[in-house]
Amino acid sequence: MAYVDDATINAIRRRHPIKEIVERYVTLTKKGNDYWGLCPFHPDNNASMSVSTKLDMFQCFACHKAGNIFNFIADMENISYGEAINLLAKEDGYYVSGLTKKQNPHAKDYEIMSLAGKFYQNNLNSALGNNAIKYLEERQIDRDTIKKFEIGLATDKQALTPFLLNKYDLNDLIELGLSNDNSSDIFNNRIMIPIHDLNGNPIGFGGRIYQTRDSSKYVNTKATRIFDKSKILYNYHRAHNKLNKDNSIIIMEGYFDVIRASTVGVNNCVAPMGTSLTKKHIQILKKITNNIILCFDGDKAGRDATVRALELLEDESVNVGIIRLEEKDPDEFIIKRGKEEFLKKINNPLSVIEFKMNLLKEDKNLNDTKEVSNYLDEIIRELVKEKDSFMVTLTLKKLERRFDVDYKILEDRYNKYKKSNKKDSLSNNLKVNNTKKKLLNKYGQATNNLLYYMTVSPHEIIDYAEKHVIMIMDSKKRRLFNELIYYYHKYGTIIIADLISYLNTKTDVYDVFNEIINMNLKKEYTKEEIDDYIKCVNDYYKINKTDKLKLELNTETDPMKQAKILMEIMKIRGVNNND
Ligand SMILES: [Zn+2]
Repeated sequence: MAYVDDATINAIRRRHPIKEIVERYVTLTKKGNDYWGLCPFHPDNNASMSVSTKLDMFQCFACHKAGNIFNFIADMENISYGEAINLLAKEDGYYVSGLTKKQNPHAKDYEIMSLAGKFYQNNLNSALGNNAIKYLEERQIDRDTIKKFEIGLATDKQALTPFLLNKYDLNDLIELGLSNDNSSDIFNNRIMIPIHDLNGNPIGFGGRIYQTRDSSKYVNTKATRIFDKSKILYNYHRAHNKLNKDNSIIIMEGYFDVIRASTVGVNNCVAPMGTSLTKKHIQILKKITNNIILCFDGDKAGRDATVRALELLEDESVNVGIIRLEEKDPDEFIIKRGKEEFLKKINNPLSVIEFKMNLLKEDKNLNDTKEVSNYLDEIIRELVKEKDSFMVTLTLKKLERRFDVDYKILEDRYNKYKKSNKKDSLSNNLKVNNTKKKLLNKYGQATNNLLYYMTVSPHEIIDYAEKHVIMIMDSKKRRLFNELIYYYHKYGTIIIADLISYLNTKTDVYDVFNEIINMNLKKEYTKEEIDDYIKCVNDYYKINKTDKLKLELNTETDPMKQAKILMEIMKIRGVNNND
């Protein structure tokens, strides 16, 4: 397979000025040296994205997406970086072969998972699948839905592993969670629902029992090199470009909730994989929308999950709507009450404060004056967290009417809590900032700053940093540090837009790099500042190394070895004195 060298990629990049590429999608206006437009990667009203013709890069100052023409096209078209290069190469009349291979280290894994999925689908469509089809029909899952969600069947025939062994190694099948090490299948007698990553690659399965009353209703693929359930949401790859008119995404609990919703035309639903919602899930969703609707199960567990999700969402700048159902889950709600009732629900979600008002009411007797007083107090405390001042006024008005309490009294109480809340959060913040954390923050900042100036002023900084930095403790940043030095020595300069292409396949380094180029530090710097950063990086290394050695010293009993460790500590301190 041909290997595409960086020079070819850079040549393709130079033939396509960034402004022309961005203008295919976004209207740009010139302001100062740069062009500005509405960022297509987040809901944007103030033209937050700048395009620099000097650096051949785009950058959004709100959502912090940044990159060269290939990143831009890849994100706009929802294709890989390599495919974006190919797209432009084809426009130029070339086809760059080998790129997809180079860009996709898991291509073979996806191939295996896709083949396993097809195998399961064939089972369902064969005579072996009669009972499973009957089960699905009873659940009102029709043939079109089965096809759309690529639903299949694992039988007890132990047939998948031998089938895949014709072409692949057992080790890969074990690693991907399909087979046991005695060459038997992991999944037996289950309806199989394929799970995809954010880009739509098949990475795992959810297997549901359908004919016995097994204790575990669902078995999911274990964590593998491609399947990390904390980082994926079921159905995201279909839902992310099917947002409805108010641009929202709906989070449900289960596969069949999401599948059922699609049968009534609601296609913007996702589900975390049998885990509760995580910060990571929210970060994923925030990239495509500011409007998140929680539609969990109707029972107490679903209510508690909603409360937990709201806690996670509290500090995020997103609009949250909540749906509470009078049935077990969305699946059952739609079956029992129909499409129109469900649409009415999702078009009129509760606000956070409405949901909390209902929740706080649950265990109270609101004919009792004392309990009413407690209830009002609790709601006003919750209301302090509400960012929308209109919502605050509206809720206070509602309370005034409902409980016949003077508006002024409610408002005074609100203002009092608002004030003390500010003080609370301030003192909390101060408490967390202990010295160790401060040191880490200072070190992290110094490392970032150093990497930033190495990137933008390579001629002045790279050799100097290479000579004076002892060791960067953070492994990703250390890799970036080494890559910058390597790249600079190879090409004699650093053109950021080209460096992006070079780093693009090195995923973890690229994340750090993205963070660095998004920092927007001032252009001018002094040698003293650079020396400060280097000193801070080195101090942090010395402290960590010394701490580690001291620990070793404490557990070491051999006097010879003790002496050796002591020497080492002395040496590190010695380096300290030579600064
Ligand atoms: Zn943006």
